[in-house]
Amino acid sequence: MQRYNVAYLERKKGKAMAVMSIQPRPCTDPKCRGQHAPAERVALAASLCDARGAQLTKLRRQILELLWESGRPTGAYELIEALKLRDSRPVGPPTVYRALEFLMLQGLVSKIESRNAYVPCAHPERGHDCLFFICRTCGTAVELEDRRLERLIAEHAALIGFRPTRRVIEVEGTCARCIAAGAA
Ligand SMILES: [Zn+2]
Ligand SMILES: [Zn+2]
Ligand SMILES: [Zn+2]
Repeated sequence: MQRYNVAYLERKKGKAMAVMSIQPRPCTDPKCRGQHAPAERVALAASLCDARGAQLTKLRRQILELLWESGRPTGAYELIEALKLRDSRPVGPPTVYRALEFLMLQGLVSKIESRNAYVPCAHPERGHDCLFFICRTCGTAVELEDRRLERLIAEHAALIGFRPTRRVIEVEGTCARCIAAGAA
């Protein structure tokens, strides 16, 4: 098992300061529904990027934080608005799309095509197909993984000689909370 014990340092006024003491650990719960603290998952993402020699720049990190804090699929323009509030520095759509491309390439974020929106992957530390249950009423997305489903897709793909690249499965419907609240 890989261990993540990276110290996070941020340059401030020329001085190196430890800003986070969180020790990100890979999740070993196979039944996990991605209920992790945003800060912990962002720290894990940072350590994964570090290990791969990929640059999790300030903007990329901020976008990942916003996606984790949002709790539902978030569109690029919503992200731009949220970034403005956070940093008061305007960021253009191409910059945000480039940052999202990076985050997707690193397996840290998935795009929900049906919503044209983005969600953070709960477990970027382990390769998997992201399976999202998206509530049409409140907009929340819950991510699950299922090896049986992954095997099935791989088998079907092999049968027709298809080589899958992006494997994100989206299931739309109504979440348990909305059903309990009386939504259809
Ligand atoms: Zn987990
Ligand atoms: Zn995922
Ligand atoms: Zn709901």
